[in-house]
Order: sequence, then C-alpha cells, then structure tokens
Amino acid sequence: MVTKEGEKVVSRRKTQILAIDAGGTMTDTFLIDDQGEFVVGKAQTTPGDESVGLLHSAADALTFWDMTVEDAFPQLLTGVYSGTAMLNRLVSRKGRKVGLIVNKGMEDHHRMGRAIQSYLGYSYSDRLHLNTHRYDPPLVPREWTRGVTERIDLFGNVVIPLYEHEVAPAVRELVDMGVEAIVISLLHSYKNPVHERRVRDIAQQTLKELGADLPVFASVDYYPVRKESHRTNTTIIEAYAADPSRRTLELVDERIKERGARFDIRVMASHGGTISIKANELARTLVSGPIGGVVGGKYLGEALGIKNIVCSDIGGTSFDIALINQGDFTIDTSPDMARLVLSLPLVAMDSVGAGTGSFVRVDPYTKSIVLGPDSAGYRVGVCYREGGIETITVSDCHVVLGLINPDNFLGGQIKLDRERAYQAVKEQLADPLGLSVEAAAYGVIELLESQLRNYLESLVMGKGYSPAQFACFSYGGGGPLHTAGYVKGLGFEDVLVPAWAAGFSAFGCGAADFEYRYDKTLDINVAYGASDAERRTAGSTLQEAWNELTEKVHEEFEKNGFRRSDVQLRLYYRMQYQGQLNDLEIESPLTSVTSAAEWDQLTATFEDTYGRVYARAARSPELGYTVTGAIVRGSVDVPKPKIPEEPYAGETPPQSAFHGQREVYWDGKFIKADIWEMEALKAGNRIRAFAIIESPATTFVVPPGFEAVLDTHRIFHLRQTSGE
Ligand code: AMP
Ligand code: MG
Repeated sequence: MVTKEGEKVVSRRKTQILAIDAGGTMTDTFLIDDQGEFVVGKAQTTPGDESVGLLHSAADALTFWDMTVEDAFPQLLTGVYSGTAMLNRLVSRKGRKVGLIVNKGMEDHHRMGRAIQSYLGYSYSDRLHLNTHRYDPPLVPREWTRGVTERIDLFGNVVIPLYEHEVAPAVRELVDMGVEAIVISLLHSYKNPVHERRVRDIAQQTLKELGADLPVFASVDYYPVRKESHRTNTTIIEAYAADPSRRTLELVDERIKERGARFDIRVMASHGGTISIKANELARTLVSGPIGGVVGGKYLGEALGIKNIVCSDIGGTSFDIALINQGDFTIDTSPDMARLVLSLPLVAMDSVGAGTGSFVRVDPYTKSIVLGPDSAGYRVGVCYREGGIETITVSDCHVVLGLINPDNFLGGQIKLDRERAYQAVKEQLADPLGLSVEAAAYGVIELLESQLRNYLESLVMGKGYSPAQFACFSYGGGGPLHTAGYVKGLGFEDVLVPAWAAGFSAFGCGAADFEYRYDKTLDINVAYGASDAERRTAGSTLQEAWNELTEKVHEEFEKNGFRRSDVQLRLYYRMQYQGQLNDLEIESPLTSVTSAAEWDQLTATFEDTYGRVYARAARSPELGYTVTGAIVRGSVDVPKPKIPEEPYAGETPPQSAFHGQREVYWDGKFIKADIWEMEALKAGNRIRAFAIIESPATTFVVPPGFEAVLDTHRIFHLRQTSGE
C-alpha cells in the first residue's frame, strides 16, 4: 500500500501487474508487486494519444515506491488496459467507411434502426414524448448498402437459394464507392450460416481479383446470435470502430514495450474478463472502465466474504451502479451502448450522466438547477487554471464550499482557482437564483446527492431487494465526496470506501481473469414429459454448441501461446420455460451432456435458479423448457492483487495525519472541518464529523451524522450515527 515508510525498501520491489483505466477524465494506473501490495497513480487523460496519459499516470503511481517506469516495466508479468478511444470513435462517428451486404429488401433496415434507438439515453420525461425522439445518423448510410437475394427461415431451412451472381457486382460497387471494409449480415444466419459464409467467400475472392485489400466481417463469424438489428449493429461496430482501434491498442502495447515490458497487453472486455488485443471480437472492449469497477467489487467482496453488493462509482462524467447478487454480477446479452442495440455480453450496469465534472445550468424558464448530461471532461471546471471551460461544474461547487482542496487536486499536479470558481458560481447560479454563492453551491450538491440517492434506491427496490441486504461499495475519484449524501437514510448493511477508491476500476482490471466468453444462440425445445430420446438429442445439440465455442476459446488462447491444458473451461446455458419471455443464464453442473439423465440435471439446476430468482411457487415445469443459448467461458491463471492487511493501531488517529482545519460551508452555515491525510491514517482509526479525508486523487467527506472507521484492509466503513 501507499505508505511513506515503504519508500526505504523500494529498490527491492518487484512490480508484477500493471492495470490502466483511461477514463474520460483521468487515466488511473494500478501497480501491484509480488507481495500483492499496490500503488495508485492518476494523470489527466490525453485523448489524442492515450499512451501519453498512461505513462504519466504510471510514473505518478511509481513515485510512491521511488521507482521509474523504466525500473518497473521490465519486471512486469502482465498488464491490463481499458480505454475510451473506441467508444469515442463510435460516438463521434469517426469510424471507417463501411459497406454493408444484407438480404435484398432489407437494405433500409439498419438505417431505420430499432424504435428504442430513437430514445435510448433519454430522461423519463423525454422518452414519453414522441416529438423529442430522434435517430442518430446510421453507421452505414443507405448508399453503401447492397442487397443480395437469399432466404433462410427461422428454423434454418433454405427457402430461397443464394443468388450467387449478385454478390460480386455488389462488392464491386461498394469498392468503387470507396468503402474501407465490408460487413455481411443475413437473416437467420446464426441458425444456418451457409449463405452468409458463401457471400463472405465470394466477397473475399472478388476483392482479391480487384486487388482491393479490405477486411470482410460476416456476422456469423463474430456474433452468431438472434436479433438481426443487434447482430448487424455489433458486426458493423467491429468493422467501423473496433478493428480500427486495434491500432490504438497496439500503439499502447508498443509504448509499454519500449519501456521494457515483455508481455502483450490485455484489454478489459464487456463480459467482465480480459482479452488479448489480438482477439477476433474486439468490439467487446467498447466499454471497459466501469466494468473494471464491478469486477473489482466482486473480487473485493469475495476476499471479505460479502455476497450482496451495490457497486457505485462516481467519476468526472457519470454515476454507475451495478448489483452483485450472491457473489455474481448479471450479464445482459443484448445491451445498448452509444444509442445502439447490440448483441454483446455486458456486465449489467445502470448509469446516469451526472458526475463531479457535470455542467451546472439554470433552466431559464423554471429557474431550476439542471445537472449535466455533458461534462467538462479532464478540464475539471471553470476553476481549471489552464482555462477552456466557461460553464460551471459540480467540481466548481466543491471548491467554493471548501470540500475540495484546490492545492491538492491530483496531489497538486493541477492547481485550481477558487476565486474564479466563486465568481462564476455567483454569476451563473447565485445571482439568477437570488441566493448567496455558498447556498447556491450547496444546493447543487444537495440536488446531485438526492438524485443519486433516489436513483440508487429505485434500482435496488425496483429489483425487489432492500438496501438492508446489501453492502454499498463507493469508489471513483468523486464517489467518496458524496458517499454520505447518497447513502443517507437508505439503511445499507454496511458502506465501504476503499482507500484506493480513486483507482478502483483499474484495480478491478488488475483483478480480472484472462478470460474469453463466447455465446451462440440455440432453440432447443423440450416438452414436459419428453421421451428419453428427445432429451438425449436436446443434450447433444447443446453439447455440439459447447464444443464449437470451446474451439473458439482455445483458438484465442493459442494466439498468446497458451496450451489447451492451461485453460479452465466453464460451460453455461440459457434456459427458460417454453413460451415465457425471459431466460436465465446458468452454469452447467456437468462438463458434458450426453444422456437423458444428464439433461434432467440441467433442467433441475434451472428449476432451482428460477425458484431463487423469482419464487418457488412460480416454477412451471409443465410448460416444458427452451434452451436459448450456449456459452463457454475459458480462463487462464494470471497474477492478482492482494487485499492489504495491516495491524490494528487503535481508534485514535496519529497526530501526523492531522492537517489542521478548514472552513467549509455545510447546510446553511460555516463549519470548521478537520482535515486528515488518508494515507497517514492507521487501521482501526475512527474519524468523527466534520472531517475531510484527503488523498492525492480522492476526497472523502464525513459530514455531521456520520463517522468513518478504517479497517485492517485499508477500507473505510461509513456509519450513520444519527437519523435524518
Ligand atoms: P475519476 O473520473 O474517477 O478519476 O474521478 C474524478 C473526480 O474525482 C474529479 O472530478 C473530482 O471531483 C474527484 N476528486 C476528489 N478529490 C480529488 C483530488 N484530490 N484530485 C482529483 N480529483 C479529485
Ligand atoms: Mg473512473
């Protein structure tokens, strides 16, 4: 951990794991040594070339061990990266020029999109009104789309053969128009891939004849799953944003290797595992940072024996929440991202566009305060000395109120201008509302916290749980500023703020398995009372899919030199009662299924899970079963961080941790707050309100009615000492 005393033994430290989270605002690095001890570094994200920010950030972390990047990198065994370049490329529509081949008659399908795409990301009130709905420009415009005649029905039967002669002309036209990649997505190809593969082969042949060196992406080779809009979108993203971002990732990899690293960097993927930058399906790394936090939450929960966790992350741009239930997070197999419906496995998460960098404005009509959804990114707010931001942000309010120390932002790397923030809050907020500057700034904090609190509560209660059954983990640079505010009165079983909150997502990336996950859609229907032969056939159809996916997993690991015997496989299936709409993802209790009796074990496991997720009385075996998908997850061992363990040092914090008092405006009055240095506090220390615990990259506020106790794992437990 980050201790000043540690600096003496530095040269003997063996750094083993590097984990990087290049977020929208900050790039966090997390370095772990062979003892499992770790340091956290932060630097501003450099969107032009992410490797610059990441090297700064790593250098920052290493100062705690008195080491340089050049000392540390050659010793590393492994490294994980998560960044935003790919998502930015997609959101800002700066991807490749992609040509699309679909079924004749379906050429407008991608352009029209699913109706839900016209209001994804909207507030509830905007979702209700049709006139606010709008479609983003399609990733592939109509002009670059061609149709070929063929038809496979939903059972996989060939209804119309492929008109092969239509393929080459379509490809030629697309090449003439200057497309840089070709995507093929035909109806029901997940069920029967022959036509799509044939189109792919003809396209590749034609390109060869033309001497055009373009990549071809057939949906079935990437995402062989039901729902053609999702499948088409995802395959297009692969060609449009993911594959071009491979270069960005390679650059990061090269830069790290130039500093002596001898491993291939892995990337955090949406399913909660990490994959190689050589992976076939790279679109899975589209959102990675926030996933890291959830994986870290699960890992920490396992270490501490906590099974039900609400993970809450506040960064500069958003507030992200995920639930861990009985030790596991939920996977959403058709999520949406960047206002597109997709078929990727994604750790289920909810997110609101309100973070500590969010802009604060006054609605000219209602005179109410509006937060976000846009934010100042790495430029913090009006208080940012380098300038560039005109509109006030939540961070400006923190500075005005005295909650954030303007001289300790990123440990003092960035100096903030309190006077400028004060003036701007006065002009943009306090004067129009007729309030004092402090009261206006405090109003913003109250509004943010009540929004987050309501959101958190509705999410937990909406799923049928009570906060009393959950521990809340609060992290992200901005989380601890508001933890007390957003958990107040909710009655969580415990509230945990790790001392490394600011680098928690990077920590999670470091804790993630090296794991591939592949999904395949199936339609296996087995009626109630089906014969032995029918159940046996069902089992072997599932087994075939598992075999196919297992091969894909092995192929990927072979790229990084792993043998089959290194890979631990886990098999899953998605099952539902026939006719019901929602399936459940279940880990198979068996490693292979061949007999009717083994099939029965699969349905029994499903019944069990169903009874737990819904209600025992809701189980309905008389409906029969449907398997909707097969999943294989394969992982290899990688080094992981260790949770710190420190000796108990009593309730009274050391005087050296005390940094005097600062005046803070809170709830209508000025109060003197005790300022503590987070890194200097010891296990067992009890911090009473009003306290501000400062760290180079996060600030933990303990307001009246709360106290915080640091445990032996360097995790603060925030307790409410009085009711609201
Ligand atoms: P993140 O995006 O997770 O890195 O969080 C960034 C946010 O952390 C900033 O917007 C700040 O509001 C908050 N923060 C709190 N204390 C500090 C600090 N000492 N230095 C930098 N950011 C801080
Ligand atoms: Mg973050």
